[in-house]
This record gives sequence, structure tokens and C-alpha cells, in this order.
Amino acid sequence: MADLTELNLAEARDGLAKKEFSAVELAEAHMTRVSASSALNAYVLATPEKAMEMAAESDKKIASGEARPLEGLPIGVKDLFCTKGVRTTACSNILGDFIPPYESTVTQNLWNDGAVMLGKLNNDEFAMGSSNETSRFGAVVNPWKANGTELVPGGSSGGSSAAVAARLGIAATATDTGGSIRQPAAFTGTVGLKPTYGRCSRWGIVAFASSLDQAGPITQTVRDAAMMLTSMASFDKRDTTSVERDVPDYEAALTGDIKGLRVGIPQEYRVDNMPAEIEKLWQQGIDWLKAAGAEIVDVSLPHTKYALPAYYIIAPAEASSNLARYDGVRYGARQDGVDIDDMYAQTRAAGFGDEVKRRVMIGTYALSAGYYDAYYVKALQVRRLIAEDFTKAYEVCDVLLTPTTPSAAFPIGKNVEDPLEMYLNDVFTVTVNLAGLPGISIPAGLDADGLPLGLQLIGKAFGEEELLRAAQVLEEAAGFDAQPQDWWSA
Ligand code: GLN
Repeated sequence: MADLTELNLAEARDGLAKKEFSAVELAEAHMTRVSASSALNAYVLATPEKAMEMAAESDKKIASGEARPLEGLPIGVKDLFCTKGVRTTACSNILGDFIPPYESTVTQNLWNDGAVMLGKLNNDEFAMGSSNETSRFGAVVNPWKANGTELVPGGSSGGSSAAVAARLGIAATATDTGGSIRQPAAFTGTVGLKPTYGRCSRWGIVAFASSLDQAGPITQTVRDAAMMLTSMASFDKRDTTSVERDVPDYEAALTGDIKGLRVGIPQEYRVDNMPAEIEKLWQQGIDWLKAAGAEIVDVSLPHTKYALPAYYIIAPAEASSNLARYDGVRYGARQDGVDIDDMYAQTRAAGFGDEVKRRVMIGTYALSAGYYDAYYVKALQVRRLIAEDFTKAYEVCDVLLTPTTPSAAFPIGKNVEDPLEMYLNDVFTVTVNLAGLPGISIPAGLDADGLPLGLQLIGKAFGEEELLRAAQVLEEAAGFDAQPQDWWSA
């Protein structure tokens, strides 16, 4: 039998349906690879017993002709999703060994559709970061290397991106508040889809910035992303921002036909110091879409330059409020103190890492009396202007094409001392969260060091079908089939 970890989601589904192998064999192949790949630090908890149990159940369903859409397909789960009976920490010390008594809606949807859980994936603490270096479990290593140097896999969903790139799971769940699905996908040669705000329920996902957070998949292909989203998306009464709207079969939208699609190119995304290779790839992407019958239109998103500053007010403000619940009383780890105030202070001082503390301080400052109008209200006004930029652009185009990131993956340790440099990673992705739109990163080429680069397509609100259709055409044209050399497996 061929190596089952080579298969993508759609191929594995077909192989299972034809009974070329069993769900148990498929899960075993991945579990073996997970345990041999600890050098990447992608998983913070493997759940082999659960995987075997779920896979055995899938084999029964397949045998009795009752296979569900993701029957027997083994996936990893970002440690931000609460999983019933399975430790969930958001990769923060403050959650200790928290074992949720409930399952997030998104993961429950996946299990209801037959997916098999391999374990929990590493991420930046509370999803704050762009490099997966702020995790309590340590940094994730990108399976891709440049000249022997160890690189970051992007963040905050670095465990998810590294796992899919290294084939330690056919797909993974992830979350994106300012770029955390798309940027790590770009850094690892994988596909990362952030759906429209409200498409996937946030219930049971550890909250970072509630008005920006959205769950989505990291996968090998656009088709796989469509399969994952069809299962992950749902209307959920328990999330008041979840939108009551039918979930289409996203895979059916992949017709390969984008004739007449109007693709907008935002001039403001030509930033200073962008490597020539990224500029070139972007032009290449334009040419590919044009050759496929799309019409290219120049558009302007004039408030783009204010997106990062606005994001770094709004996201920390919401985070400071969301993280107030970690007080040593209800969840996770507690440090004793002389009285209750001291206990809170000791618990939070010991439990949160530096980046999280920085955000809590910025957030509480921006929300405090006297500064609220100067910072928070201004940031919200800017957010509105950014959303209006997109609305105007979509009067003349259907999707937008941009690079995903201003650089390829960088060395571990390079930006840890410089938060501003780190924040710049999201310059092309945060606008999309601020406007609540869907965006997808597609691996489109390699840089001079042989590292993957991604192109981003941005869609209209709830325009995932059109977005995925265009993404698949771009994927086909790019024909990206490079894989990292397996230097890590033991
Ligand atoms: N890198 C951004 C941040 O640090 C985005 C993170 C995310 O999308 N979760 O806030």
C-alpha cells in the first residue's frame, strides 16, 4: 500500500469509499508520523486512543453504507477549540490542565460528519502572534528550511500549518483574528481559508478578539478547504454573531470557470520594501487569472495604511476584556496570595506570557476613561472606513487579489524582541478581519531560498463559493507541488 499520509482529503475520501484501505489504517499511518515528528512540536497533545476509536466507528459506517461527508478523515485541532474531555489550553499556562466539559460547535460539526481527531495543535498563546513562538509549549518549527536555518511556521495557527505541511494530519482547524490562518498557510505552502465573520460558530473557541475571531481550515488543496468549510460552517444559536444562512455544498462551487470574473488589484498593497519576488508573484497571479478569463480592474482601498494601528487597538481592547475571566477561580491554574486581590494578581502574573500581558495592558489603556475616545473610538471609526473601502471596491470587482504576506517565513527568534516588526506580518490580512470578509491564501510559488509564498484572494461577505472557485483556478494555474524535505522524522 502506498504511503497513506501522501493523500489529500478528497483522495483519502475516495480511497476509503473504494475500500482501498480502512479508516483505522489511515489514522494509524498519521499517528505513526505524528509520533515520529516531535522535532516540529506541532502537536501539544496527541490523542491516539480517540483516533483509533473514532476510526473504528468510521469503518463500521463505511461498511454499512452510511458514510458521512468526512468519514474516517484524520485531522488535527488547534488548541484554541474546546474539546470535551481532552485538555485545552490555548497554549497558555493560565489554563493549566483545563479539561472542557463541552465541545466547540465547529469541532462537533466535524465529528458529526465523521472526521477523526488526531490531537491538539500548538498555537501562539491565546492566538496572539505571527510566529507560534509565544506558546507555553515552545515554538513550532516550520518543516520548510532555508539554507539549514530553522524557520517559524507562521502564527498563530503554526501547529496547524506545520502539521498539514508535514502531513501529520490531512487537514487542521485553525482560527484567524488578523491573519492567523492565511499567514501560516503562506509560510508553509498550504491553503488557509478564513470564512466570513459569522459563517462558523465561535462557541467553544477560546476568545481572543470576539468581533474579529473566525474559525477556518488549513488544508493541502482548495477542494479540501471547501470540504472542511462545508462541515465547519453552521448557524448556532449559542453564538449571537452566527449568521442564520444555509450552508451550501462548497465543493460543488468548484466549477473551474471564472470567465468574466472581475478581479480587483488594490494599489495600496504595494508596500515599501516588499521583496521583488513577491511583487513578481503577484503579477504572475494577475496573469494567471487573466488567462483563465477573468477581467482585471485596478481598485483603491485608501484606508489600508490605518488597518494595523486600528487592529492593534481593537484586538487588544477586546482581548483585555475576554481575558478578564482568567482569575484563578474558574479555570486552570491558580497561584495563592495573601488575599483574593493578591491571588488574582499572582495568578495572572504567573499564568500569562509577555505578549499576552502586553496586549492586556494596551487594551485596558485604550479602554480607560480619558483615552477611550482618543484611541478606541477612533479605531472603530477607522474600521468603518476600511469596511467602506471594500464596499466601494466591490462595486467594480468581485474578488481581490493580493500577496498574503510581505515576506516568506523568517528564522525562529528573529522578530521576538521587536513586536512592531512582528505585527507587520499581517499588513495584507488584517483589513479582511476588520471588514468581516472571507479570505484565502493559496501556495503560488517559491522564493529564491526555496520557501513557499502565498497569494491571497479576498471575497465578498458570504461569497465563499465564488472565492473558492477563483482560488481553485489560481491553484491550478500555479501548479504548486513542492514539498518540504523530510529532515525531522525520527
Ligand atoms: N498576528 C496577529 C496578532 O498577533 C493575528 C493573530 C490572529 O489572527 N489570531 O494579533
